[in-house]
Amino acid sequence: MLLQENVALAPLTTFQIGGPARFFVEARSTSDVEEALRFAQSRNLDVFVLGGGSNLLVADSGWPGMVLKVAIAGIEQRPGTRDDKVLFDVGAGESWDRFVSHAIRAHCAGIECLSGIPGSVGGAPVQNVGAYGQEVCETIESVEVFDRSDGRVRELCAEACGFAYRSSIFNTSERGRFIILRATYALVPGGEPHLEYADLKQHFAGRETRPNLAETREAVRFIRGRKGMLIVEGDPDCRSAGSFFKNPILTGQQHEELRRRAEAKGLVVPAYPALEKHKKISAAWLVEKSGFTRGYALGHVAISSKHALALVNRGGATAAEVLAVKDQIQNRVEAIWGVHLEPEPVFVGRN
Ligand SMILES: Cc1cc2nc3c(=O)[nH]c(=O)nc-3n(C[C@H](O)[C@H](O)[C@H](O)COP(=O)(O)OP(=O)(O)OC[C@H]3O[C@@H](n4cnc5c(N)ncnc54)[C@H](O)[C@@H]3O)c2cc1C
Repeated sequence: MLLQENVALAPLTTFQIGGPARFFVEARSTSDVEEALRFAQSRNLDVFVLGGGSNLLVADSGWPGMVLKVAIAGIEQRPGTRDDKVLFDVGAGESWDRFVSHAIRAHCAGIECLSGIPGSVGGAPVQNVGAYGQEVCETIESVEVFDRSDGRVRELCAEACGFAYRSSIFNTSERGRFIILRATYALVPGGEPHLEYADLKQHFAGRETRPNLAETREAVRFIRGRKGMLIVEGDPDCRSAGSFFKNPILTGQQHEELRRRAEAKGLVVPAYPALEKHKKISAAWLVEKSGFTRGYALGHVAISSKHALALVNRGGATAAEVLAVKDQIQNRVEAIWGVHLEPEPVFVGRN
């Protein structure tokens, strides 16, 4: 186990913001994880578990305890025991998109629409990542975790992970308890790509043959690139943490109130099948209809010129500046629409 001190965290995040970690360990095996935790315990250090750093806003003062970067590698394929599915056991430190590409080269369907999402395999179950009509909870068979409550390694079946829209036990009821070591995915060999999402249908409109998995992956990456949702070297619109706000889930009464407010302004609240699946409304619509335009900037932080939901670091931004823009957006959306927008990224450390 390699222990380092005062390691800059900003370069380890897609936002490229934040101060250093007092202690930093990269864990390449379960025993590295155990050793790092013993060290943290001996010094009474708070531990933050880092994956690919793509869903984080690190405080300007950094993290005063220990950052444990999970770097466990490996993708192994084996036959499933039911439904003719193929199982992939994947180390938490693998790049998520590398795994998607690997599965598609093996002609296995189930995660093709999740192409181009940055981050690690270990980070993906935490907020049950989803895009273009698929979520990881639909294909996760089980997750191998280190349980910090008793120091044991366990296997959690998908049901035990409590997956819901952008959530799981890992970011709600059991936050901080489990370190994800490996995830097992059950994919369909020779399966057809999932082409339900409007943007994808439009991309392939007019085509006579059904796109294959590889073409679907390329289409998803192309669409994501247009929205600044793909990490592309040199593109300032992807220096972000992806969508900064979750799509709010409203009660019937809240939805009726929103509809009434929209009607009074001559507007209609958009409803797409993808949103209705989770009884959500579009956070991007709320942001734009509150007077925030794409490209709106305050100091070194801006709303992406390609996507109303992404806050981007224009270069040299601080976490305090991001939080100021977050507050501005939240306050105005709440005042105009009566809806509270919940941030999606994880805030690390104290600002
Ligand atoms: C350009 C861009 C586009 C994005 N598009 C999408 C999208 O389409 N859909 C979507 O859902 N998300 C999207 N995201 C958000 C992000 O990519 C995902 O949430 C990703 O799964 C985070 O993984 P990570 O490894 O980077 O986690 P990190 O950002 O490092 O960590 C996020 C959280 O997970 C925890 N964590 C990470 N690894 C582990 C582990 N091994 N064990 C336990 N806890 C762990 C961390 O402690 C933290 O709480 C996007 C982000 C960016 C920058």
